[in-house]
Amino acid sequence: MAYQTILLFGPPGSGKGTWGDILGKVPGFFHVSTGDMFRKLAPTSEVGQLALSYIRRGELVPDEHTVALWREYMQTLIASGDFKPDEQHLVLDGLPRTRAQARMVKDDLEVVLILFLDCPDRDILVRRLQGRAVVEGREDDASEEVIHNRFRVYEQQTREILAHYPERLTQTVDVSQVPYKILMDIGQVLVKRLGAG
Ligand code: AMP
Repeated sequence: MAYQTILLFGPPGSGKGTWGDILGKVPGFFHVSTGDMFRKLAPTSEVGQLALSYIRRGELVPDEHTVALWREYMQTLIASGDFKPDEQHLVLDGLPRTRAQARMVKDDLEVVLILFLDCPDRDILVRRLQGRAVVEGREDDASEEVIHNRFRVYEQQTREILAHYPERLTQTVDVSQVPYKILMDIGQVLVKRLGAG
């Protein structure tokens, strides 16, 4: 059975992790982030070590490995009763991340919405990332050049993946607004797509 799925996309600094967590707290939704999934793997296990070796270099974990692990992770979540695919929408963050992954998970997912958290003014995102870099001591976010490179990589990957899905599935929310307005816009998109009854 394919999971009824909302794919979450957003450039670095868009608050994708935060909004994914918030949506996951709403009854009827279940949030899965593949970044979190990899970070939770025991660093002593063989799969954990392999994944960590890519993550540390800032590289993507190979497609076959990512999809196999994700499928296993979903089965664990279902078996434990945390994720109820008959009752809940899956809010998926971080997968698919490549064209090959999009092809591989085609039959696992029934994508009902692609929620694109975007910000037309990249300078706002740069300032947010630099602010976070100071607080969290993240060197990768401190330099403007590195940040712009991350935007370029992100945009190219996202364009390729979105090309796999019908355009009508994508709804964009502007994350440069105040958080309660972002929340309202996300709510409106969900009502439009999933209905209000
Ligand atoms: P994130 O928290 O989404 O930025 O993910 C952190 C890291 O996990 C990435 O830099 C990748 O190394 C790995 N990762 C997360 N999702 C995927 C994916 N779909 N395919 C390959 N690697 C992934």
